[in-house]
Amino acid sequence: MTTPGDITQLYTEARPKSKAWYARATATLGGAVGHDVRHFEPVPMYIARGQGSRKWDVDGNEYIDFLLGNGALLLGHSPPEVVEAIQRTLVDGTHFGNDHPLHIEWGEVVKQLVPTAEKVRFVNSGTEATLLALRLGRAFTGKSVVVRFEGHFHGWHDGVVHGFQPPFDADGSLGVPPQVWDSFVTAPANDLDSLDEILSSPDSDIAAAIIEPSGASWGRIPIDPGFLRGLRELTKKHGVVLIFDEVVTGFRFSPGGAEQLFGITPDLSCFAKIVAGGMPGGAVSGGDEIMSLFDFSGDAVHDRHQRVVHQGTFNGAPLSAAAGVAYLKQIATGEPTKSADALAAQLRETFEDVLERHGIAGYVYGISSTFHVFFETDVAAAARASRRSDLHTADPQKLKGMSGELISRYQLHLRHHGVDNMSSTGGVLSSVHTQKDIEEATDAFEKTVVALAGEKLILKL
Ligand code: PMP
Repeated sequence: MTTPGDITQLYTEARPKSKAWYARATATLGGAVGHDVRHFEPVPMYIARGQGSRKWDVDGNEYIDFLLGNGALLLGHSPPEVVEAIQRTLVDGTHFGNDHPLHIEWGEVVKQLVPTAEKVRFVNSGTEATLLALRLGRAFTGKSVVVRFEGHFHGWHDGVVHGFQPPFDADGSLGVPPQVWDSFVTAPANDLDSLDEILSSPDSDIAAAIIEPSGASWGRIPIDPGFLRGLRELTKKHGVVLIFDEVVTGFRFSPGGAEQLFGITPDLSCFAKIVAGGMPGGAVSGGDEIMSLFDFSGDAVHDRHQRVVHQGTFNGAPLSAAAGVAYLKQIATGEPTKSADALAAQLRETFEDVLERHGIAGYVYGISSTFHVFFETDVAAAARASRRSDLHTADPQKLKGMSGELISRYQLHLRHHGVDNMSSTGGVLSSVHTQKDIEEATDAFEKTVVALAGEKLILKL
């Protein structure tokens, strides 16, 4: 029987080179990492190589990958057609500062896949995509306030950084000017009455509503599709621009994203991750009318004062465009989505089976090619449940409220057993995960929950 300390020690002992890199990173990088969620004790992961559904760290430890480039890699690591497209493009130059044919082809394939995309504008990340979409929404309506939903993530710029983590009324970061609070309203998701009240208020000045159509954090707080339909109707009624943040769901939930899966039509959509085929990139798409805000007319007053300004050195950069086109062409066949969805459904079932066999107070959920695990750690709530299904909740405070200690121990155990997932307790699948991956990941999950129950971090019913 291992003790909690043993696992930490075993984990560290298996990662001597990672430890050395961590020391160098600590001396060199702000916060020692490049993204807050890469912060991890006792030692962050330093990956040397990825192939298909797996990746290897600098110490040679192998992982089944459910992080997949933060959700970017629906086709797994290094699909040969994509690598080849990048190599082919690379020899002609990495960057021109001018437009080029692949940029236009990239836009055409986005238009082909996304039902509402009449025009596309490329950016460099999901954060840039939501920043630009909010500017378009404000420009189109001439209003300034944005409705966002509790727990939904839209990147790290000032306008969206509050309201992501509970408590939702606290600052999301230091360094954000206090007047930013006046530029948005945080609404509870799945509550049409409260949304109606916000949008009907005569002096609300609402320009746009932005939402993750999967529900917050790629579905960690699930959303009722009926709410999305109601949101569409109410925003239309009040002349509010509806923005779907499809940074994770785009080209994953279906080849045309969540809008196609749910049959709901936003005014603007934000993409990143899959859209650029594993390279940096993002996009905003929408109908001709709203996207015409970028147009030049030749009239000096119009062009100086009456359009939306958007620059960016690397917008539509050749290597991202090459990867994006190659990737999206494969996604257009529908096969990658089908395989990834089926594998994820299977994984959710085998993980559920583990929780059932061990009587763990928790459950597995998710749609499309995602999975999430919720552990009920409130003793009184667990005691009230006679079956695990009684634990199902839609409460954002609960679903986003598992302790940091639980999540990092969960990740430590899983990584120790050769599985990496997203920043919380869930992950995403690719079209190239295998039956062996599912079996091995389920085995690692079982060892993890047994250990966590032993550490009293999760409860049994
Ligand atoms: N929106 C959503 C829904 C996201 O999940 C993310 C990234 N996880 C972003 C926006 C920000 O994207 P990026 O990290 O590319 O800036």
